[in-house]
Amino acid sequence: MNKLNTEKYYNDTFPKTIDILNSSPKYDSKTKEEKINLIKQLLDEKDAKIVAHYYTHEDLQEVAELTGGNVSDSLEMARFGANQASKTLIVAGVRFMGETAKILSPDKKILMPTLEAECSLDLNCPASELKKFSDKYPEREIVVYANTSAEVKAMADWVVTSSIAVKLIEYLKKENIKVIWAPDKHLGNYINEKTNADMKLWNASCIVHEEFKAKALMNLKEKNKDAAVLVHPESPAEVVELADVVGSTSQLIKACKDLPHKKMIVATDNRIFYKMQKAAPEKTLIEAPTGGKGATCISCAHCPWMAMNNLDNLIETLIEEKNEIHIKEEIRKKAFVSTNRMIEFAKTL
Ligand code: SF4
Repeated sequence: MNKLNTEKYYNDTFPKTIDILNSSPKYDSKTKEEKINLIKQLLDEKDAKIVAHYYTHEDLQEVAELTGGNVSDSLEMARFGANQASKTLIVAGVRFMGETAKILSPDKKILMPTLEAECSLDLNCPASELKKFSDKYPEREIVVYANTSAEVKAMADWVVTSSIAVKLIEYLKKENIKVIWAPDKHLGNYINEKTNADMKLWNASCIVHEEFKAKALMNLKEKNKDAAVLVHPESPAEVVELADVVGSTSQLIKACKDLPHKKMIVATDNRIFYKMQKAAPEKTLIEAPTGGKGATCISCAHCPWMAMNNLDNLIETLIEEKNEIHIKEEIRKKAFVSTNRMIEFAKTL
């Protein structure tokens, strides 16, 4: 930690200096407005922008918007970061999102409020295991979801996000290309159902979407007959079947705005409500149920890793320029090819 810098920023901004910085949680006695003002000042001084995912706390989404940053899904986060002139990007989300930013922008400094924020899909798809699996099918192209490590992206032919996954697999099918799909089994099954493509699926899932329960959702629908059901395709098939709209986070926000229904039952991370409500302030948003028989409710509709990002660790990261993402250049270059293919493919849609 650069103590001098820390004290400088702290003294300039907060009167009681180092005692508060060293307390836990840090900056707790400061108002949200004071924290946001400090963040604005630090972003200017460090020539930095914030890129935040829809699933992060609304304070982070708000500060990203207020400071000319970006709040979006994985694909848009990647695009925005790559098109930014700023020297530093602060990626508020989970680790693979920071890595994706580094893959596409090697000359930028990529920092994250925490490096502890993982993803169950990434954790359950180690590169060594995927290699063993893909070695059994050398004739197939490897398509991986963006929720994977840089090593896995480096092995892949294609990277894809949920917003364009169906389109990409349709395209590969037309080209008679057989596919290995990793890691999300629910999204893989959903795409397979839609395209009838030849796909071998990896077996991992998102701990947040896995929790949504079909029976409880049916009951909720019954009580709210006028509501539309919006479902992210990382959810189990029986939940997807009950949806009026299935789509990526950006597609669900658009559906919330465009559909005539006054009420929405939403099966994805509940932090998306911040942007949904902004897009359609007059609508009532209802969380899809994660309870029901057999539910463990690890996540209760909110990703515990996304929840690790907050204004305090964002301030610390900016002051200390810590939690930097590093990727071996040899891995990064390979991962760039498959990730950039996604960006280029998206341009054709
Ligand atoms: S919500 Fe699911 S897919 Fe997204 S980061 Fe959390 S665990 Fe991963």
